[in-house]
Amino acid sequence: MLRMDSVVKISNSQTWQQELSGAFTQLDKLLAYLNLDINDLEEHERANKLFPLLVTRSFASKINKNDPLDPLLKQVLPLPAELDKNTLFTQDPVGDDKATILPGLIHKYYGRVLLIVTGACAIHCRYCFRRAFPYTNNSSTPAHFEKVLTYLKNHEEIEEVILSGGDPLTLSDQRLANVIEALQSIKHIKRLRIHTRLPVVLPNRVTNRLIDIIKNTSLKTIFVLHVNHPQELSDDVERAINTLKKAKISLLNQTVLLKGVNDNPKTLIDLSYKLFDNDIQPYYLHLLDKVDGAAHFDIAQKDALVIYKKIQQILPGYLVPKLVTEVQGEANKTLIT
Ligand code: SF4
Repeated sequence: MLRMDSVVKISNSQTWQQELSGAFTQLDKLLAYLNLDINDLEEHERANKLFPLLVTRSFASKINKNDPLDPLLKQVLPLPAELDKNTLFTQDPVGDDKATILPGLIHKYYGRVLLIVTGACAIHCRYCFRRAFPYTNNSSTPAHFEKVLTYLKNHEEIEEVILSGGDPLTLSDQRLANVIEALQSIKHIKRLRIHTRLPVVLPNRVTNRLIDIIKNTSLKTIFVLHVNHPQELSDDVERAINTLKKAKISLLNQTVLLKGVNDNPKTLIDLSYKLFDNDIQPYYLHLLDKVDGAAHFDIAQKDALVIYKKIQQILPGYLVPKLVTEVQGEANKTLIT
């Protein structure tokens, strides 16, 4: 059995659940907090209805006040541009629907599956390729979980399960422990990958209890974080990451190349150095997945390559993330060269 110790708070007096329930969900309140005044608030509110604003206090505290161009603000602020129609952009840009085997179970690549354990996140990133994902019918709720386990048992080639979402670390510790325990009981499953933004946007989530759950599993565990800009790696985030490091959890990072956020060599170079200072390996630099509402973030592939060549010239090879895109139906991510 996985050990369940009491919750120990790392960085402040609130539990992570309390902090999450106090996240910004109203546009006017976030703008007031940031001392920002925008003219066409109604248009922003229309975009907000398509994909509601959600920003943790921790993430908001890293946004520069009075700065409408702040790179962290751009990741979370609903914009009128999201309402523009673009025929190259769709609701399901990476083909999740076709690859869904059972509710919450996506099997695209050899030897590994993606398990959507929740639709909840701690932050709503405006460019998220799952911003329109039908989570209600496609999450591996406890009711569907037995069928998922049966599928995994019957596919001995599957050695790795990727917990994704939504963000798997929004699950309660008990539910997370139950999921991991069930997965590790299947002999051929050896690795557990957790795709999460929580250590970055809600560092309080990295509790001693979470660490115990991860340390007590027999599965080799990898956290794939999602950091787009060095400004996200503040002191409280670095403390949370240090706690993950001490637990010997492998840490990788993926970044999405976003217009107006990180589309310049200096930002990406600074990010790689800062990740490495925290023992996080830069892993993927993704081209934007063409999801409805996110066209204003898009960088043309030829422009992405110009930026990428510059970072290759400056960084040592081990700090250069792979520039990739996801093409529907392909057996792996596609390297951009
Ligand atoms: S799934 Fe990840 S990228 Fe999408 S909104 Fe949640 S945290 Fe952001």
